[in-house]
Amino acid sequence: NKTGKENTAIYSRACKVITGGVSRNTIFREPHPYYVSHAKGSYITDIKGVERIDFANNMASLIHGHAHPNITNAVTKQLKKGTAYTMGTESEVDFAELLINRSVGFEKIRFVNSGTEAVMTMIKASRAYTGKPKIAKAEGAYHGTYDYAEMSQTANPSNWGDINKPNTVPLVDGTPQGVVDDVVIFPFNDIERTLNILDQNADKIACVLIDPVPHRIGLFPASNQFIEAIYKWTRKNNAILAFDEVVTFRVNYGGAQDNYSVVPDLTAMGKIIGGGFPIGALAGKSEIMQVLNPRQAILKHPHSGTFSANPISTTAGRIAMEMFDENAILRLNELTKKAIYQIKESIKIADVPISITGDGSMFRLHFTETAPRLYREAYQPKQIKNIVTELLDYMFLKEHIIMINTCACMFATTLEQKEIDRLSQALLNGFRL
Ligand code: PMP
Repeated sequence: NKTGKENTAIYSRACKVITGGVSRNTIFREPHPYYVSHAKGSYITDIKGVERIDFANNMASLIHGHAHPNITNAVTKQLKKGTAYTMGTESEVDFAELLINRSVGFEKIRFVNSGTEAVMTMIKASRAYTGKPKIAKAEGAYHGTYDYAEMSQTANPSNWGDINKPNTVPLVDGTPQGVVDDVVIFPFNDIERTLNILDQNADKIACVLIDPVPHRIGLFPASNQFIEAIYKWTRKNNAILAFDEVVTFRVNYGGAQDNYSVVPDLTAMGKIIGGGFPIGALAGKSEIMQVLNPRQAILKHPHSGTFSANPISTTAGRIAMEMFDENAILRLNELTKKAIYQIKESIKIADVPISITGDGSMFRLHFTETAPRLYREAYQPKQIKNIVTELLDYMFLKEHIIMINTCACMFATTLEQKEIDRLSQALLNGFRL
């Protein structure tokens, strides 16, 4: 059906009532966003009837693609019984039991509504437990939109400062100086500099916040030595090792943390664990999680949320995670390896200076001959950004393939070899332009 409404007509209505016409800047594209009619499995059809293969999966949150029948059926049943109550549900407990069993570090869990909220709760619980004010985070890493977590993530190189002591750069105008003062920035995967920087703030740091495979930094994994060094530092300095696995939980059965020799104290999750619905979760050591426990004589971190653990998200999440078992993860990670191999062939044939980083079921293209290993190496100047936009537009408009706007793909279990072949051929065509 090519007679659907015009994308431009909807966008002009949107601009009159929604700032910039979008509620999330992620979906904005020039000259206008495209609007969805429906989606199923690995395919999205827009309102003009154009069908595209989806390798973005709502920013890595749909591990089983769109409208998986098992999830749709379970949620439909629950919808009829109500969607949120000022009472508990068994669904929440079922889901908690399932997740707790996936990692030795998960002794207790709490559900929230987004990755941002999970990271925020993790930071606040760390402060409440240690009694210290500061957090440390990696330069360039994205952790959602909590003030403290969003420092130094899209800084202009002229603001970066000395690599030995990177600047804390607020993202949003008007961020209070007090917030800036309480965030310490370190260079990802750079052990010596990071330990130096942490040492300078040793008595003030509540937690070291780290995404083990940070997408915005460049989507390459933290080395085991780096994570071990930070772990040891946190033991010595009474600080918390806080993993942001909002994206990376997909990497293994127990998240990317399975790849390391040490276990984080706290882990924030989100995205895939909601089975397509809004969710976040904070899991970790019982002793630390106790700061949230209303039965404590002194409640250090009173914690609530109107829609936290609503039975729609916990039902969808439980079904999705039951299906995302060890076999499903193995198959998906193998398929991703195959895709990377095929894309590397396309790069060779087109003879273009492009490299690939990634882990598990995620990868990202870089417009450099060799893959970056540090944030500052992965930074894209304007001319590269323009090339990326041109390639993504070509993929979207001509090849009908949706990728994440950093030129990344986050796979879903619904993908098969034929979609991988389409992707590597389409990229080859795009590289040759
Ligand atoms: N942490 C990481 C690593 C993320 O990628 C994101 C979202 N892209 C978040 C936290 C925030 O999650 P949400 O958008 O659900 O608030």
